[in-house]
Amino acid sequence: MSDGLPPSNLFYQTRLRRPQLARGAGVYLWDSAGKRYLDGSSGAMVSNIGHSNPAVLAAMRRQMELSTFGYRLHFENEPAEKLATRIAGRMPEGLDRVFFVSGGSEAVESCLKLARQYAIARGQAQRWKVISRFPSYHGSTLGALGVTGMSLMSAPFAPMLRESPKIPAPTCYLDRDALTLEQRGLRYARMLREEILAQGPETVLAFIMEPVGGASTGALVAPDSYYAEIRAICDEFGILLICDEVMSGAGRTGRYLASEHWNLRPDIVALSKGFGAGYAPLGAMVADGRIAEAVIDNGGFIHGHTYAGNPLACAAGLAVLEEIDRLDLITAAEQQGQALKARLEATMERFPFIGDVRGKGLLLAFELVAERATMEPLPVGLNAHLRLVDIAYDAGLIIYSRRTRGGRIGDHFLVCPPLIVSDDQIDEIMEKLTASLESFAR
Ligand code: PMP
Repeated sequence: MSDGLPPSNLFYQTRLRRPQLARGAGVYLWDSAGKRYLDGSSGAMVSNIGHSNPAVLAAMRRQMELSTFGYRLHFENEPAEKLATRIAGRMPEGLDRVFFVSGGSEAVESCLKLARQYAIARGQAQRWKVISRFPSYHGSTLGALGVTGMSLMSAPFAPMLRESPKIPAPTCYLDRDALTLEQRGLRYARMLREEILAQGPETVLAFIMEPVGGASTGALVAPDSYYAEIRAICDEFGILLICDEVMSGAGRTGRYLASEHWNLRPDIVALSKGFGAGYAPLGAMVADGRIAEAVIDNGGFIHGHTYAGNPLACAAGLAVLEEIDRLDLITAAEQQGQALKARLEATMERFPFIGDVRGKGLLLAFELVAERATMEPLPVGLNAHLRLVDIAYDAGLIIYSRRTRGGRIGDHFLVCPPLIVSDDQIDEIMEKLTASLESFAR
C-alpha cells in the first residue's frame, strides 16, 4: 500500500493505492521510485511470456505502421485470420471456429450466447439454463457474473442478475470420509446429473467450468474420474460443455489447454489472459465447427463487440503464440511448475499453517489454514489473504490472493510467475515468500 500519492481523476475501485508502474522486463516490474518487484502472479495470470518481450513489441510496431483498426463488419484482416488458424491448429479435433473478443468476460458471454443460439437453431428453444459451480469465477459482466459462484461479487446485483443453478466445485481434498479421491471425484461429477434432473433435462443448455480453477478456488484440480464423468453426463443429456480456460489456457498448466490433461473435449472454450499476455486486450471463444455452422445457417450469430478481432490485438496475440512455441514455454510451464510446486511443498514443514499446495504446471496455489489436519480456514477477521500479499509486496514479490467467503475454501494464494521463470528466479520467489511467511507468522 502506498500513501502520499497525488489526488487523481482516475476512478480507483477502492481506497487501496499502489505505487505507479514505471516499466517491466521479463519477470520483473519497477515502480516509479525504482523499486523492483518479481511478478509472481503474472499480473492476474496474464503475462505468461513476461514483460516487454522484444519480438512481440516488434510485431506490434510493424502492425501499427500498417493499420491499427478496421471494423470487422467492413474488413477482414490478416492477423486475425492467421491467429485463428494458429489457435484452431492446437485445439481438440473439430474445435475450429475462433471468435475474437477483448477479454475473459466477453469470451464467456460469447460462449453462453452461442450455446443459446445453437439450441434455438436445433429447434430446442426450451433449453436455456446453464449450470455452473460454486465457487467459480467467470467474469464481471452480468451474463458471466450470473454463472459465477462468488456470492460477494454477485449479491448487490441480485435483482438484475439471472443466477445460474450451481453445483459444488469438486473440493475433494477437503472431504474427510472413507472414499478414495477418485470416488470423491465421481461423487462431485454426479451432482451435475442430479442438478440436471432437478432442473428438467429438456431445459438445460450447458454446463460451464474451469478445468483447473483460478482465483475463485485457488488452482483447484479434480481427480481424473471427475472429468470423464462430466463429459459423459453432458453427452447423456445433450448438454454443451463449456470450458472456461481464460486463466488455465495458453500453456499455463503445461498443456495448451488444461482440459488436455484429461483428454476432455469441450464443445466451446473461452480463452483470454495468456493469449494477449498483457500486450493486448484479447480473448476468444473457440467453438465446434458444427455449432458455429448451425448458428450461421439459422440467421447468424447475434453478438459482437466493436474492438473484436482488431488487427493490432491479433498481431500481438499471434506474436505471443509464436514466442510460446519458439521458447517451448508449455514444456517450461510443466517443468518449472514441478520445481516450484516441490519447493512450495517443502515449506509446509516449516509453516504448519500452510494447509496444502495444489495446481498444475505454473497455475499453483497454497492455502493458509487454522489446522492442517482438518483444513479449517483461518478466522475471517484475520484477513490473511490481504495481509500476506501486502507483506510480500513490500518484500518485492507480487502474489495473488483471495478468500472465498461462504464457501469451504479459505485464504488461498496463487503463485503463478511468467512461464519464462528461471531456476534462479524460482529461488528468489521462494526466498521472498519464505521471509514473508515468517513475518506473517510473527
Ligand atoms: N474467467 C476466468 C476463469 C477468469 O479467471 C477471469 C478473470 N480473472 C475471467 C473469466 C474474466 O476475464 P476478464 O477479467 O478479462 O473479463
